[in-house]
Amino acid sequence: MSSKINSKGGTASSDTVTVVVGYPCPQCGVAKPARYQVEDHHQSAHGEPIQTTDIIKNTRELEHDDLMKSVYKLNKQARKYADLAEYNYKIGKKATAKANSVRKKALYDLKTDILSLLYRSDVVDSIRCHKINNRLYWLFEMESWSFHVPVDHLDIDTTDVANPNDPVELVDFHKSQKANRTSRSLKESLLFIQNKLDLSANDYLSQSHLKYGCDSYFAGWSYLD
Ligand SMILES: [Zn+2]
Repeated sequence: MSSKINSKGGTASSDTVTVVVGYPCPQCGVAKPARYQVEDHHQSAHGEPIQTTDIIKNTRELEHDDLMKSVYKLNKQARKYADLAEYNYKIGKKATAKANSVRKKALYDLKTDILSLLYRSDVVDSIRCHKINNRLYWLFEMESWSFHVPVDHLDIDTTDVANPNDPVELVDFHKSQKANRTSRSLKESLLFIQNKLDLSANDYLSQSHLKYGCDSYFAGWSYLD
């Protein structure tokens, strides 16, 4: 068993973290999240096995707070899109509600992938199990920052969880989340994530274009790849 919880004994100082952004194939450069996936890819794409020792992980040194603020901002914005989608649907603006909803899902899915990346990189300090409105979540804690993700969205080793069989029930959770911890914009946050983690929110859109009357327009963020 190998724990993915940061033991504080690694190379990361408290100001920076080393994040594994992926394992590129030495032959064609395509990056995969895990070593075994490069082995599978190499066998099927290049027709021969590859030595595990030839697969070198690609890491980035990041400012811890920059990373946390960016995830925080996109999480907050996702919740805003969720509220907007509900509101616009109620007042009959169905096309706008659909646009809000597509962006909401893209941001939540991007957040889940980032948390998965941080977990695999041993950057997470602790994981707890929470129950909010009858749904189970993992609570990821990294220094003074914390993020929830539904347990069915992210596979983790339950031996890394402090209370795997004894979830803490939270009531009125969203009401207590009004404080804003960063003035960083969504654009700044998404560009940071794209540049530092090679993840573009546009790749998470369930559909790239939306219809509005007889027009069609891009559903994502034009400043991203
Ligand atoms: Zn390849």
